[in-house]
Amino acid sequence: MKISRTHIIFGFLLVFVLSFCSWWFYLIHNKNKELYQAKYALITADSTAQTIDINSINLKADSIILSPQSEALVAEYKRENRMIVWEGIGFFLSLIIGIWIVFRSIRSEVALTKQQHNFLQSITHELKSPIASIRLVLETFQKRNLNKEQMDKFTGNALKDVERLQNLVDNVLLATKIENAYSWSLTDIDVIELTERILAKMRQKHPKVDFKSRYTANEIIVKADITAFTSLAVNLIENAVKYSPKGDAEIKVTIRKGVKNIDYEVSDNGIGIPLEEKQRIFDKFYRIGNEDTRKTKGTGLGLHIVKEIVKAHRGWIIVKDNSPVGTIFRVTVPMKLNRVND
Ligand code: ATP
Ligand code: MG
Repeated sequence: MKISRTHIIFGFLLVFVLSFCSWWFYLIHNKNKELYQAKYALITADSTAQTIDINSINLKADSIILSPQSEALVAEYKRENRMIVWEGIGFFLSLIIGIWIVFRSIRSEVALTKQQHNFLQSITHELKSPIASIRLVLETFQKRNLNKEQMDKFTGNALKDVERLQNLVDNVLLATKIENAYSWSLTDIDVIELTERILAKMRQKHPKVDFKSRYTANEIIVKADITAFTSLAVNLIENAVKYSPKGDAEIKVTIRKGVKNIDYEVSDNGIGIPLEEKQRIFDKFYRIGNEDTRKTKGTGLGLHIVKEIVKAHRGWIIVKDNSPVGTIFRVTVPMKLNRVND
């Protein structure tokens, strides 16, 4: 874990407050003892008894014989002492819990601000670069007479950029809609047919990637929102391509039909995801690594959308390591759903 300024400030605050309270507790405890010791000395006629430490008097011990007045005083002292100790413990615990809650909420605020900053940085880049390249293509068309082959090449590149922009806008819109009352519409979806359609497009777009598929039945029908389910599958498969070696990527989509649920699994032989990042990749705008050193493009919205879609369809998602390298994302959703989770 990286130690930030917030950690240091909180560390200092915690040490200061706890030491201050310990000192305060010690003072109250001692003053109370001094007070009772003085009272005890006043009411005890025996000079030797006056030297006895009030704290060490055990009322239950047979050898101690005290006057009823001294005995009542010692009992009262013991009672107050116990009260101070228990109140001290309660105070300490509530203080620590309170500081911990404040610390956690400040930490998540800081993380959100950082992620939003990351998002703005990446979205600016994601918008600027395709627009610049489409502009270049159009300017070339305007200034030069190109032959058919050149035209096709330039148009192909421009179309790829347009698709990137389209995906980005779709993801941003879907994420916003899902958060603000998206009207889910459940229909029967043939997930095999849907996947084959997505894979056909992916094969066209990434001809060097080896896309495989395996289905445990000839037809698997799931009640789901078609736009959302398509986005879920596209995001997982796009990620598998994006985070796998160029030219040597092997991506497999497996759909298993269970009794009530289906497993929709996308596996790759890519860079993998470190254990400590596996939870965080589903956070909104979260991307592993640093914006300056990262080679891949993206906004960190894809898996957040996937998580929200899975949640709405009353399912769950797990991420685990593939063997020998890579990652497996497995989504499990019920086949028959009456209504989505709001
Ligand atoms: P976007 O999907 O919005 O274009 P993105 O791909 O960076 O951007 P997510 O899909 O939310 O965002 O993924 C979050 C992070 O999880 C990625 O930045 C990447 O570091 C990691 N990740 C996701 N899928 C994989 C994968 N299959 N292999 C390795 N890392 C992955
Ligand atoms: Mg993604």
